Amino acid sequence: MPGEFELIGRHFTGRGARREDVHTGVGDDGAIVAPPPGAELVLALDTLVDGVHFPAGFDARFVGHRALAVNLSDLAAMGAEPAWALLGLTIPSPDEHWLAGFSAGFDALARRHGVALVGGDTTRGPLTVTVTLAGTVPEGAALRRDGARAGDDLWVSGTPGDAAAGLRILQGRLNAQGRAREALLARFQSPQARVALGVALRGIATACIDLSDGLLGDLGKLCAASGVGADLASRELPLSAGLCSVALPAERVQFALAGGDDYELLFTADPADRARLTALDAGVVLRRIGAVTGGGGVLVDGAPPARDAGHGFDHFG
Ligand code: ADP
Ligand code: MG
Repeated sequence: MPGEFELIGRHFTGRGARREDVHTGVGDDGAIVAPPPGAELVLALDTLVDGVHFPAGFDARFVGHRALAVNLSDLAAMGAEPAWALLGLTIPSPDEHWLAGFSAGFDALARRHGVALVGGDTTRGPLTVTVTLAGTVPEGAALRRDGARAGDDLWVSGTPGDAAAGLRILQGRLNAQGRAREALLARFQSPQARVALGVALRGIATACIDLSDGLLGDLGKLCAASGVGADLASRELPLSAGLCSVALPAERVQFALAGGDDYELLFTADPADRARLTALDAGVVLRRIGAVTGGGGVLVDGAPPARDAGHGFDHFG
């Protein structure tokens, strides 16, 4: 059986992008990196627990991809450019095959986003993956949750609800065939964080949050942070062809509003910026789905959503 240091050497050294600003990476007690002058650091950490954040037996490549993707999504929501990652890995046994798949999934996504793996920790125990991701923004340019103002438009990227449908397909709780099946599964298995969009929204979005726990729940968080309400028009929700082919109209809306794991961006902007946003090419379609109001909480089509419409995933709820 390989030792801890052999494992680290084989699977976690030189992973991700090579960056000039990494002065010391894996191999010392700490990593040394050199942020650009005038930049602010944005830091995020997310933990994935086997059987909680992904189904038991989930392909190791997808675990590696997902562990980084969820953190990339947090940085995207801040308008930050990701740069350096730390990986805390707890595994039940040093399974070479699993580790190779995991590190390949992590590595491919890290390279795509220019992220260097600069350190971490490897321990034995129930499968748990924690990634800390650091990135940069020019001083004062970060997006936050607390800037939405009454009268702003409410926008969302991509097609929320797909990942929740994909998870149910994986669990055998939803039937799907052919292309719709593949498309929805991929949206759960390998989410694409909207990093380029986050950067493009600097100076435009008044508030931004990434969708991890379900659109309505996350909208509630953005509104609470900003001290505003919102009215969302359900007919404006962008629904994918795949989702429409596997779910009835009422269910589609339910998936989009309450399904989690979308890793899209939900943001607010001044109506004067509509043309700019429509013209924005950040690799994903944007849709205006409602408006920010002065108060009164989150409404759907002018009315408080039904209690089961989704208040977001809560580990201790
Ligand atoms: P220490 O005992 O000083 O905390 P370790 O022996 O745990 O260091 O790790 C040795 C080196 O390998 C350190 O540079 C650490 O950051 C890195 N490392 C350990 N585990 C991982 C991992 N899963 N991914 C990336 N780097 C790792
Ligand atoms: Mg040490």
